[in-house]
Amino acid sequence: MHWKVFQRLLRFSLVHKRLWLWGLLTLLIATLCDVAGPYLIKVFIDDYLTQGVYISDATLKLLAFYLAAMFIGAAGHYAQSLLFSKVALSVVETLREQVFHAVIHRPVAYFDTTSTGAIVSRLTNDSEAIKELFLNVIATFIQNIVLVAGIFIMMGILDLRLMLVSALILPLIILAMWGYQRLSTPLFQRVRSLLSDINARLHESLSGMSVIQSLNQQQKFEHQFDDTVQQHYLWRVRNVRLDGLMLRALVDFMSMLALAAIVYSFGLTSLEGSVEIGVLYAFINYLGRFVEPLIELTQRLNIMQQSLVAGQRVFELLDAPIEQHDGTARIQRGDIEARHLNFSYDNETQVLADVSFKIAPGQMLGVVGRTGSGKSTLTQLLLRFYPVEAEMLFIDGTSIKDISTDSLRQSVCMVEQEPFLFQGTLEENLRMGQSFSPEELTSALDQVGLGPMLSRLPEGIHTVLGERGSRLSNGERHLVAIARALLRKPKILILDEATATVDSASEALVQETIQKLRGNLTLIVIAHRLSTIKDADNILVLHHGRLVEEGNHLSLLEKRGLYEHLYSIQTAHLVLD
Ligand code: ATP
Ligand code: MG
Repeated sequence: MHWKVFQRLLRFSLVHKRLWLWGLLTLLIATLCDVAGPYLIKVFIDDYLTQGVYISDATLKLLAFYLAAMFIGAAGHYAQSLLFSKVALSVVETLREQVFHAVIHRPVAYFDTTSTGAIVSRLTNDSEAIKELFLNVIATFIQNIVLVAGIFIMMGILDLRLMLVSALILPLIILAMWGYQRLSTPLFQRVRSLLSDINARLHESLSGMSVIQSLNQQQKFEHQFDDTVQQHYLWRVRNVRLDGLMLRALVDFMSMLALAAIVYSFGLTSLEGSVEIGVLYAFINYLGRFVEPLIELTQRLNIMQQSLVAGQRVFELLDAPIEQHDGTARIQRGDIEARHLNFSYDNETQVLADVSFKIAPGQMLGVVGRTGSGKSTLTQLLLRFYPVEAEMLFIDGTSIKDISTDSLRQSVCMVEQEPFLFQGTLEENLRMGQSFSPEELTSALDQVGLGPMLSRLPEGIHTVLGERGSRLSNGERHLVAIARALLRKPKILILDEATATVDSASEALVQETIQKLRGNLTLIVIAHRLSTIKDADNILVLHHGRLVEEGNHLSLLEKRGLYEHLYSIQTAHLVLD
């Protein structure tokens, strides 16, 4: 499974074939220069120094070679790390773009079941972990394997027997690497999950700060946080202990053994014939150099594992199905019909059951009912945020499934129960990427009665509204959202509780706006305040997802049913007020 993820990630990077090739080439050159160093010094010691020649043309040449090798090596390392970084960063860039594309095209229903935090961490942490794969794993692997191979070849050239002696520690080190891997993986996973707990707790505490402080829960949250942080510390310490023991101490110990073996066999060789002290120097140097990359490889295996897990999570998000709508019909008039509409979010609890109604173009439909009776759900279905069966919901006589997404988004506008404003200026929030003349913008604001507010804002329409429009009051946000919808001249306008958060004066304004709009577009108005929908052409009364009453205000009052009950409670309140 991980192998597939690895292949797929590699494929992402193969777009940059040239960077890869250059990276590999410079890596090879740099490594060759690295291993040439000790060999050159060995030649200097054995062929010149021990012969008593210190400065001569030949030694100067050797020095020049040595310096050149070191310089080219350093330049090569610089170039290769730059090239591999470029590959890594561009893979991350591509992945982030693709994930965001995938996310923003997901059906709205997807976000009911997926936490925002999870998506955010895919886009940030996980893509970052994938970067490590290219930067710190693949490059290091290639580099270290080339280095170790190069070192062995050089050792072989210098002295085959000593090379074989050194090679004896390889299986031991591989065994140690395997053991370390086995022991450290669970520790690592634990540390990772504790870290994500810390993040989650912090995130939750920060977003719920006002609740924590108002309920005086600081101490409890502090305890929880301290607990998690301490756990994280303890597991980290275990991890460090294991690292210290397995990585350094054990491997160092083995390389000491190898060193002793080399010195010993070197001694044996010296009994037989001439001694080349430079060879010993070169071997000790090489031995020191190849242990390091092996330790590094062991450590990198963990990073690799994390990157692949991250890759898998990112791909899961990329591969989740996107709902396709291939309808082509366009909305011309704006009449709506529901026929025995049933709906459930989770295929268990029925949220709408057998709801049938009709609205002619230009008419106003009021929808009332207790909290949770399914009013907002009905509007979500009209926006096709959730799929319904083809023969249940029609606009202009066409099943909502066959309407083109473009036309649907243009013709059906909704002011949500909790309208969302984006970080940006008032103007940007009204335009949302479309172009309107300044007059159109101001007249839309005037229409909803925001003219006076506009003159209060320090920079008028160019005032930045802050995150989620925090600069505005709830009611003002609602009115801005209505203005935003009106600018689009929709055929169907849905107002979900547009008057719930505004004062009576603003409600009157919304009422007036509604009156002005009547006849020009089909209006669906959901309201708890029944005064808002009193003169609707038709009113639906929902109760537990069923349509229990239907008619205009007066006929509903005469029925003396749920509507009349709701209405009498409200008017009683008004009298009390
Ligand atoms: P209110 O007047 O409080 O806005 P409402 O009539 O608009 O209420 P809906 O939002 O339509 O009520 O909710 C109807 C039912 O569907 C509720 O029982 C609610 O728990 C459930 N529900 C709403 N949204 C979802 C969702 N995204 N996933 C699952 N269930 C949901
Ligand atoms: Mg609602």
